[in-house]
Amino acid sequence: MSATIIDGKAFAATIRGKVGEHVARLRETHGITPGLAVVLVGEDPASQVYVRSKGKQTIEAGMNSYEHKLDAGTSQADLLALIDTLNNDAEVHGILVQLPLPGHIDSDLVINSIDPAKDVDGFHISNVGLLGTGQKSMVPCTPLGCLMMLRDHLGSLSGLDAVVVGRSNIVGKPMAQLLLGESCTVTIAHSRTRDLPDVVRRADIVVAAVGRPEMVPGEWIKPGATVIDVGINRIDAPERGTNEDGSVKTRLVGDCHFESCAAVAGAITPVPGGVGPMTIACLLANTVTACCRANGLPEPE
Ligand code: NDP
Repeated sequence: MSATIIDGKAFAATIRGKVGEHVARLRETHGITPGLAVVLVGEDPASQVYVRSKGKQTIEAGMNSYEHKLDAGTSQADLLALIDTLNNDAEVHGILVQLPLPGHIDSDLVINSIDPAKDVDGFHISNVGLLGTGQKSMVPCTPLGCLMMLRDHLGSLSGLDAVVVGRSNIVGKPMAQLLLGESCTVTIAHSRTRDLPDVVRRADIVVAAVGRPEMVPGEWIKPGATVIDVGINRIDAPERGTNEDGSVKTRLVGDCHFESCAAVAGAITPVPGGVGPMTIACLLANTVTACCRANGLPEPE
């Protein structure tokens, strides 16, 4: 293995530390405690894990965490009513609705009902538009975390060829916007892209956000490229044995085949321990930013 491993876990801890310091200053100097409301509808196990983790880290950073767990059968009208209440609650500076929502609920409608100033996920259409036009916005947490790691590792990204594999609204598209904002030459690849290996091979920066375990092999990577692996995929790991109930143990892998990519890349993020921890750290940072903006105070850097 030749690549530098970009330690997202350590980087995220540094960000959380700075968030905690800022929160303490807000409380001591202005008597304000940032608050994050997280809304979970239904019992999706992965979502439950994320929401628990977000709540825990919010409290550890000294902020107020408000968790709203609703039944899977909650009506859209009731969910919209809760969001309206949170929009009008001065103690709540950030609102996050955990996706995916149950099928009977219109996710776009719900996201667009959040006050854009409290939309710490950056998914509201206003924030998407602001980001796309290079204006001050709430930046989606996962792409923001990826960008922070890239900047930290590479310094200026200007002029670099970046390929983002995946065009989702929550990762691929905002990631491409951010890289464009850094003056990269950006290609967005997706399931219809022709000659994907050749497209990826051109990239100085590869961001893989596909949701397919270990899809990108080392042969696709230009020697020395920086690889950001957003994917979180759980696969069977028979080599780890079985659980008490007889089921095969599992492990997490990214969208890139780590060993072969690390043999060629200049730097790579691991899974777990790369993009994942940065996402929650950026969520906390966005909540502090939203709180500062709401109170007319200087934003954290
Ligand atoms: P989506 O399923 O919304 O989007 C996946 C994208 O990958 C689509 O644009 C799709 O193309 C593209 N794609 C699928 N198959 C291929 C293929 N064979 N070749 C090229 N492109 C392909 O996923 P998300 O963006 O929500 O998430 C992507 C991954 O990132 C997942 O593993 C998810 O778990 C992870 N994730 C991790 C986060 C973190 O904090 N680390 C946060 C969010 C997501 P098309 O549009 O043509 O269908």
